[in-house]
Amino acid sequence: MIIACIQSKGGVAKTTSCINLGHALAMNKQKVLLIDLDSQGSASLSLGIKRGEINPSIADVLIDDVPIEETVRETSVPNLHLITGSMALANFDINLANHDRRTERIKDGIKSIIPKFDTIILDCPPSMGLLPVNALIACDHYLVPVQPHYLALEGLVNLLDSIERLKAGIGAKGNLLGILLTLVDSRAKVTGEICDIIRKQFDKTVFKTEIKTNIKLAEAPSHGKTIFQHDWNCPGAEAYQALAKEVIQRTKVKNEQKARKKCG
Ligand code: ADP
Ligand code: MG
Repeated sequence: MIIACIQSKGGVAKTTSCINLGHALAMNKQKVLLIDLDSQGSASLSLGIKRGEINPSIADVLIDDVPIEETVRETSVPNLHLITGSMALANFDINLANHDRRTERIKDGIKSIIPKFDTIILDCPPSMGLLPVNALIACDHYLVPVQPHYLALEGLVNLLDSIERLKAGIGAKGNLLGILLTLVDSRAKVTGEICDIIRKQFDKTVFKTEIKTNIKLAEAPSHGKTIFQHDWNCPGAEAYQALAKEVIQRTKVKNEQKARKKCG
């Protein structure tokens, strides 16, 4: 199962969600691989990788055809593996501009290791450039984190719309696993109102679990730790554990629906 975390906006907790969902799924006995597709390497740094240790990265696989097996590494979390993201990813669109399978680089690159993992999580950069397009083509499901801010609703409608148009245009198979409300500041009245509007409009598509603002979640990356390593008991850890349960349930239902469709 391949899950892409996609959102053209930055700072909405894509990386935070990928890391902590990854650890929570690993605690649920899944063998998980997190692929850091951001040239900033935030997911890699947050998992304790030092800048000098970033290479080899996914850029070597996607741009220079290095076998992916050579880039997978273990992390301090049992069952959670990582392929780092490096600065070279910033050149991905330009380097691959004339490649005739430029939108299938991730799909082609990860093929050989898919059977080795229960879940592969793709942490996308904040854009709708070639990397997220690749992620959409490679994934089974995509998850969209949203910070319930003023104007967030319009941005979300536009994003989901452009993903649907993109999918139709390129024949991507991934389906929307859910909208995740992140950085929910329950002290602000407007936040609650926007959450309500998003839930009304998108109904069951929105995960029941909300990720509230939690200082522990902001601290953990600076220690190179997931939330479960930093503070096992905090509300942020509980929220990502609950999200993992929902993700397991939703993917199970969606896979069963897919299997039924296949059987006619
Ligand atoms: P993105 O990957 O979408 O750019 P990040 O996951 O890097 O976003 O999060 C942006 C910033 O917000 C980071 O500094 C992160 O530590 C912080 N952050 C994420 N989620 C929370 C949360 N629930 N509470 C507090 N801070 C958070
Ligand atoms: Mg990020």
